[in-house]
This record gives sequence, C-alpha cells and structure tokens, in this order.
Amino acid sequence: MQVTRRDFLRLTASAGTGTAIGGLVGLGVSLAPAAARAQELRIKDAKTTPSICPFCSVGCATLIHTVNGQIVNIEGDPRSPHNEGTLCPKGAAIYQLHMNPNRATKVLHRKPGASDWEVVELEWAMDRVAELIKKTRDETFIEKLPNGKLVNMTPAIFGLGGATLDSEFNHVCQKFWRGLGVVAIENQARI
Ligand code: SF4
Repeated sequence: MQVTRRDFLRLTASAGTGTAIGGLVGLGVSLAPAAARAQELRIKDAKTTPSICPFCSVGCATLIHTVNGQIVNIEGDPRSPHNEGTLCPKGAAIYQLHMNPNRATKVLHRKPGASDWEVVELEWAMDRVAELIKKTRDETFIEKLPNGKLVNMTPAIFGLGGATLDSEFNHVCQKFWRGLGVVAIENQARI
C-alpha cells in the first residue's frame, strides 16, 4: 500500500508507546519479507550446527549459525517434533548468553559499607563464600524443634538460582543446599 509521509508521522506520533515500525504495521505494511531477508543475509554462508537449549528439561532443539567460528545467530530447529522451531523467551535469548558485551567476566566484590565494586580473584571469592556459609550455618543450625522433632536445618541461608543455570546444575545445586540443611531454595527459571 501507499504510505505518505503524513500518514507515517501521524500514526507513529499517535501510537503512544508505539514505534515507527509499529506505525508501519498499523498501516498494514507487512514487515515479514524484510525480516526474512535480513535473517537470510545474516546466516548466508554460515555453518549450521544442531544443538539443544541448555536451560530446562524440555530440551528444545536449536540451530546455531557460525561464521568463521563466531556465533551469528541461534534459533529454534523447525525439524524438532516438540518445539517445531519455536523457543520460549529464555531460549530465544540464548544468543545473548554467548555474545553479550555486558556480561560480567570477572568476580566482583563490594566490601561492607563500600560504594564501589572491586575485582577479586576467583580463589579468594570461593574461600570467602565457603567461610561465610560455614560461619552462618554453625551459628544458626537447628537440630531439633522445641517439640523434639528432628529437622537438621538452617533458616539463615537462602539458595537462589539464576535463570541461566541449566537443569543439571540446578539439580546438583539443590542437593548441595539440602545437604547443608538449607530449606529456602528458589530458582528464577519459571518465565
Ligand atoms: S528454556 Fe525454553 S526454549 Fe529452552 S528448553 Fe526450556 S522451554 Fe525450550
């Protein structure tokens, strides 16, 4: 369809939270061919490697596109009988797990009361975490409730898993926490 400059400005300005692209869509312009063409160019001449989303036990199949050993795209594999090319929001963001300039690659520590973070050695951080976990557990461990019921737990430590931990890691992690007597265990995985 014919889109005048006036139509474009009117629709994008009145869209409120909308965008120029939203305005074009509102005018009935299909972006599908342009999007498909951009995707085609991005993976043109790329090597395709089948893989599996690492996040949960649904195990959605993916296709990883690489150019000169660098990942340029990750998408759902349409040949998969259960995800049929689709991925949930976490799976659709796997590319950002690999290629992300904002990803922290160093261990950061902020001392009590300090306003800035300091880069520290991983070994030091592991020892510090172990030391604090042992101290907290020793100080708060409850073997029996007042009524004599055996509980062997600490209410002072909370185990929180991140959305990018995979099923296997979470399995090991919760076993570790439960072995220490931690009962407050959660994982930000249900999006
Ligand atoms: S996290 Fe999402 S995309 Fe990944 S396997 Fe689970 S359902 Fe599939």
